[in-house]
Amino acid sequence: MWQIRPGLETLKPYSVEETAWKIRLDANERPANLPPAVRDEVAARLAALPFHRYPDMHMTTLRTMIARSLGVTAGQVLIGSGSSEILAVLCQIFGGRDRHIVFPAPSFSMYGIYAKLSDSRPAVVQLETDFSLDREKVLAAAAKTEAGLIILCTPNNPTGNVIPLPDIEYILSRASCPVIVDEAYQEFAAGPSALSLLGKYPNLIVARTFSKAYGLASARVGYMVAGEALAREVSKVLLPYHVNALSLTAAEVVYARRDDFAPGIREIIAERERLSSELSRVKGLTVFPSATNFLLVQAQAPELLLQCFRQGEIGVRDFSKASGLTGCVRITVGTAAENDSLLAAARQYGKDR
Ligand code: PMP
Repeated sequence: MWQIRPGLETLKPYSVEETAWKIRLDANERPANLPPAVRDEVAARLAALPFHRYPDMHMTTLRTMIARSLGVTAGQVLIGSGSSEILAVLCQIFGGRDRHIVFPAPSFSMYGIYAKLSDSRPAVVQLETDFSLDREKVLAAAAKTEAGLIILCTPNNPTGNVIPLPDIEYILSRASCPVIVDEAYQEFAAGPSALSLLGKYPNLIVARTFSKAYGLASARVGYMVAGEALAREVSKVLLPYHVNALSLTAAEVVYARRDDFAPGIREIIAERERLSSELSRVKGLTVFPSATNFLLVQAQAPELLLQCFRQGEIGVRDFSKASGLTGCVRITVGTAAENDSLLAAARQYGKDR
């Protein structure tokens, strides 16, 4: 009889609801497809792709492009099949049997799954009631468990708030293990990125993605930036050709033309602020501040709110029964028209209560 690796029996697969909503505000994607000029260039580059050849093993083009724009070396940049792959691999490298990985909750739920997949033990630090992170609790958890890795998410999914850079620096300077700063939503935040700390802390790893602000969720491309020594260790574990040439090509075009995405990002931020102030006026809803492309909203009657969204054929992410997020739903900022529909459904909730 076959037997899966001990420890994996209790693993619950990551699953998201896959209803074909008319308005999809559940996955923090960019609401519009790529800008037309970018899309045309991706199409032209794909048409000329040597499909019969393996991809560039070292992904030199994309790594060099990213490195140049950040003022680091290509050896400090690694590409992944989504930042998900980067996070999973980092858990394998710095976690492992009987080693602990520190991460906060509520945060991105995959951290717990990557910890488990790598046979590591989670050391979860609960966020405070205002969703802020107590840096001393992080350091205490890491010291107590002799953790192999700390993962921080800023701005945090699903709470939307930022971990102030001085707190990140405080943790980096005192932790004796690598610290991942997952910046999947950084493009929507006004504050500085942890990338500014790269030269100073050899234990810093910044993870970024093309899936959110750059509208490339379909292609699954993300990257990490760290010191060269650390990046070299990580590259040993990544499988050869783990990012396909189609996705690499699309990411190269998107990165080269990333200025074309600035208006879209500005619009999402403006719409986020509009949604936030309008939703705050609805009786029975509390909207938390957000530096991302989504809003966390707490409803006094979450079932009723979800029902109003369902009636409007709007999909959002339901966290209402999740620990620390009672009554909360996460709403991705959509197009202006989508947000109008969402507001109409939310106002209906306010009336029905
Ligand atoms: N980190 C965070 C905080 C996320 O929310 C997500 C996507 N939901 C990811 C990482 C993974 O993104 P991807 O694999 O698409 O790059």
